[in-house]
Amino acid sequence: MVIDLILTGKCNLRCKYCFENRENCKVNSRDEHVDSSDMNYETAIKSIEYFKNIAIKNRESILQINFFGGEPLLKFNIIKDIVNYCNKNIDDIECVFSMTTNATLFNEEICDYCIENNFTIMFSIDGNKLSHNKNRLTNNSEGSFYLIEKNLNFITKFINTSKKSQIKYILNPNNINYFYESMIYLSKFNSPISFDFNYEELWKQEDINIFQKEFEKYLKFYKEKREIIGSEFNSIEIERILKSLSNYEINKYCNAGETMFAINFNGDIYPCSRFILETNESLGNIYKNHKTIELQNNINYCDECSLKNYCNAQCKFINKLYTGSILKPPKFFCDIQKILFYYIYKTFI
Ligand code: SF4
Ligand code: SF4
Repeated sequence: MVIDLILTGKCNLRCKYCFENRENCKVNSRDEHVDSSDMNYETAIKSIEYFKNIAIKNRESILQINFFGGEPLLKFNIIKDIVNYCNKNIDDIECVFSMTTNATLFNEEICDYCIENNFTIMFSIDGNKLSHNKNRLTNNSEGSFYLIEKNLNFITKFINTSKKSQIKYILNPNNINYFYESMIYLSKFNSPISFDFNYEELWKQEDINIFQKEFEKYLKFYKEKREIIGSEFNSIEIERILKSLSNYEINKYCNAGETMFAINFNGDIYPCSRFILETNESLGNIYKNHKTIELQNNINYCDECSLKNYCNAQCKFINKLYTGSILKPPKFFCDIQKILFYYIYKTFI
């Protein structure tokens, strides 16, 4: 069982594409002086107990608690209190901790604490400086890369010591021309990289053409590196596709609303943090009850697709947003999958 705790709707950055900037987003208290979007300790503990009981009932052995926001490190003190509570009071299931952070507040104390408590950390860094600064802005509308640069010692210390990190890189049309250089830059961190498209942006054919060129160039670099180190290199997406191409192995990608949930600051339960954008998608509340996401559907929307035996990339949120069904992928999502598969196949097989 995985739960995202939305510790706060506040963030010290103003990323252009952030769903929390939208008016209808239910975590979007942007005012740093207003506490209305902070999760209090009681709600956090109640959420953990609520999902712990479900996980135990389902005979699961691990409860993963992912600290999310806004920027969760604005609430480092409550993170410590929650971890402390779990370590002292929960012994009928193993609690493991993770965090998704913009890395701008990642200092020595936090680094050492996270190593000591076995955290897995997903650092959101959108490529190299030029690429990152296109969209990830401070509240003065300047690029925020310099805020990460000052913490690089601690970020690399965490990555190298814990070996439990990921770099999350979101691709947008306005920085897609930096893809190759950005992936080379991020490779130096020695951490798995997960790149994903911002599907809520309008991608024109010329943007896709740029991506194809950049991706093909990067795949050549990736292949060489992979041959030298003799195993998987560091792109989660490329390795996922290579695995499914070579083994016909389709691992389920998204468990949102089944064994993964997000809990908003007020205890409302969602299939995952992205669904909090939707005003009517709450599955319930930890102080009452919740339903699981409705997956019963006789139609297999992938049946006619050439990738149906390989692709496992569907995102329930993107599906719901664009097609109204959590199981029906929008066309441009599938077009991107086809490009990824085509170039990986062409380069490696
Ligand atoms: S619905 Fe999409 S964003 Fe949410 S967990 Fe699944 S893949 Fe991730
Ligand atoms: S590319 Fe789209 S239609 Fe094809 S298998 Fe993947 S999600 Fe399904």
